[in-house]
Amino acid sequence: RVRTRYAPSPTGHLHIGGARTALFSYLHAKKNGGDFIVRIEDTDTERNVPGADEKQMAMLKWLGIEWDESVDVGGPYAPYRCMERTDIYNRYIDQLLSEGKAYLSYATPEEIEKEREEQLARGETPKYSGWDRDLTPEERARFEEEGRVPSVRFRVPEGKTIIFDDEIRGTVRFESDGIGDFVIRRPDGRPTYNFAVVVDDALMKITHVIRGEEHLSNTPKQILIYEALGFEVPQFAHIPLILNAEGKKMSKRDETIIQFIDQYKELGYLPEAIINFIALLGWSPEGEEEIFSKDELIQVFSLSRVSKAPAIFDTGKLKWMNGQYIKQAPLERITRLAIPYLEKAGRVTTPLSPEQEEWVTRLVSLYQEQLEYVAQIVELTDLFFQDEVTYGDSAAEVLREEHVPAVLGAFLQKVQEADRFEPETIKTMFKEIQKETGYKGKRLFMPIRVAVTGQDHGPDLRETLALIGKESVVNRLRSVID
Ligand code: GLU
Repeated sequence: RVRTRYAPSPTGHLHIGGARTALFSYLHAKKNGGDFIVRIEDTDTERNVPGADEKQMAMLKWLGIEWDESVDVGGPYAPYRCMERTDIYNRYIDQLLSEGKAYLSYATPEEIEKEREEQLARGETPKYSGWDRDLTPEERARFEEEGRVPSVRFRVPEGKTIIFDDEIRGTVRFESDGIGDFVIRRPDGRPTYNFAVVVDDALMKITHVIRGEEHLSNTPKQILIYEALGFEVPQFAHIPLILNAEGKKMSKRDETIIQFIDQYKELGYLPEAIINFIALLGWSPEGEEEIFSKDELIQVFSLSRVSKAPAIFDTGKLKWMNGQYIKQAPLERITRLAIPYLEKAGRVTTPLSPEQEEWVTRLVSLYQEQLEYVAQIVELTDLFFQDEVTYGDSAAEVLREEHVPAVLGAFLQKVQEADRFEPETIKTMFKEIQKETGYKGKRLFMPIRVAVTGQDHGPDLRETLALIGKESVVNRLRSVID
């Protein structure tokens, strides 16, 4: 049975890259009828942020990435939080110590740093020398007396080539001689990531370790631990880096890209659109089609179509794709999402009366085609909430045309006389004005649009006017005519 996992460290918000790793792991499991596990890797205790795990998991859930086993729902291999598993790690560390595959290392941070600097000064690549691999009992006792607290280091075998078949990168080789003996348990008893991840993946029966390429250089160390503990090595799949539009590695500080899933949620991106977009960061389908629902992704996803080449994060494409999903979503859903933005901008107050509800729904409907993300509703509908319209240069130019007063005057009169001010009645007014003045088409509509909205383009004019409302339309026309 295929089992995959996503193993976030609870150090911050769910990042785009993390969401993609989670998605690929989820899709691979579900495509193969397997299980997807979320495990919280909280061994880096200094960097842990309280509550970050729940928040990240809430974002995964929002995206529709659901797990079969984790800290909240439990599962057959609980606990799913590393720092609750230290007894388990210690058992395996004891095993390695007793077999001589690991050793107590008494080197102090200062000694480690000094060795490193000397190696750098000689032009060597720094690597722990393992000088304390084989201390005598007397030497050990002396260090203990000095008050040194040992870490546990893994004894890296010499002259060994570590080879593995990565599902994405093909055959990967590392020489063990490039790897120094590395710490698997810190002096305070906490395991390091490279050790905990192996024990957890092995005991949780993970079959496919899918993770970012930045972990590639950890993999040989992990394979050595699998072998030392007699565990079966899982299949690895290292997914490519994500680059920004300038072709630079996306970093968490990159300001050209919105980095975190909650920020997208706050802006009114739809989870289906984000899933669809991040699925295409490194993976590509066979055909030309680019729009996929989650269920379709489960059908068509395959690790064999994940590229080794870095993925480029194209913000424009994400906006476009989100726009596609907004267009197709039910109006009620987009309205429900839009209301909080309008409320925050001070334009409506909830609870809405039935009339306001209808008005807001019509307003959102007018712009649904145009929205790239729902928060844009505020700037797009600015003109509906202004007391006074401001006219830019091109608007002023339109309004200076000779025939404009005749058109606006006729329209003002009709609006004032109207008892109903709705798209159908406005249509009738336009027809009458055309008959009376002889102006039609753009010559008729443009002055009205510009005078009332200040803009020379926009969605359906009749609906726009109806939503601005009779009173406000009259005031705006008057201010231009006078
Ligand atoms: N906690 C690691 C990370 O967040 C997980 C790496 C792995 O998947 O092995 O990058």
